[in-house]
Amino acid sequence: TKDVGKINSDYIRSFLFESKLMASTWIVIRIDGCHFHRFSEVHDFEKPNDEQALNLMNSCAVAVLQEFADVVFSYGVSDEYSFVLKKDSQFCQRKASNIVSIMVSFFTSMYVMNWKAFFPQKELKYCPAFDGRAVCYPSTEILRDYLAWRQVDCHINNQYNTCFWMLVKSGKSKSEAQRTLKGTQAQEKKEMLAWFGIDDYNALPVMFRQGSSVFRDGMALNENGAAGEKPCYKVIVEHCNIIEQSFWEEHPGILG
Ligand code: ATP
Ligand code: ATP
Ligand code: MG
Ligand code: MG
Ligand code: MG
Ligand code: MG
Repeated sequence: TKDVGKINSDYIRSFLFESKLMASTWIVIRIDGCHFHRFSEVHDFEKPNDEQALNLMNSCAVAVLQEFADVVFSYGVSDEYSFVLKKDSQFCQRKASNIVSIMVSFFTSMYVMNWKAFFPQKELKYCPAFDGRAVCYPSTEILRDYLAWRQVDCHINNQYNTCFWMLVKSGKSKSEAQRTLKGTQAQEKKEMLAWFGIDDYNALPVMFRQGSSVFRDGMALNENGAAGEKPCYKVIVEHCNIIEQSFWEEHPGILG
């Protein structure tokens, strides 16, 4: 038999490859539900937007900000969430696989834990899974471009999905609806929605149109606390335009 004591652990360790995320850059961990097209069908989500499913996602993101002090902002839509870690974060010594796996597993177990609170009448039929990735953004400007890209995506998808489900609910098959929408521009979709009685796209719930932003409120809960005490912030969920400059001017502390 093999003499286990003789195995040199440095030799075994030498195979480990650990990628560290570049220093002094914003880290974004984006998670996304695996096969949520199916998950949403099996669990009978309302289409195009199940409000409770989004609220459940938001509750998990709030838990992430409460748990991980280095996460300064997060933005979520559909089955995805992006978590922004501050530039100088030393969380897990910036090791990508550690950070991603901790965020993803924490979020996923929160999703399962909170399910009943949001869907008291619905049984969770199987275990959801999320994938995750880490990307570094070297400047605040590029980070904001990233977040703007996600919010633009939210708008485009919501406009498409709203039209798609209008067509399906009016009796078209899914493939017919898909064919009808293929290649249509925003203006045509607007007209289509108006035809179905949605004259004003902006009248749709703001969470569906703009996604959800989660961050710490500017005001510490313990402002009058003892000297030397760490400030404690309330984590809030808002549905706002994060593409415009004004949001970041009104919340200078987030990326400050
Ligand atoms: P992948 O594993 O590649 O991510 P996916 O099926 O999860 O595949 P996505 O592009 O992530 O594909 O899209 C998520 C899908 O989940 C949406 O298309 C939608 O059908 C469904 N979904 C997610 N959240 C909701 C919600 N709140 N209400 C209704 N449907 C939702
Ligand atoms: P880290 O987050 O760095 O992994 P850790 O506290 O999880 O920190 P580990 O080196 O992973 O540290 O050790 C796991 C610890 O969990 C053990 O030291 C032990 O105290 C406890 N533990 C794990 N499994 C069991 C078990 N089956 N029975 C009793 N204790 C356990
Ligand atoms: Mg995916
Ligand atoms: Mg998905
Ligand atoms: Mg997705
Ligand atoms: Mg460990």
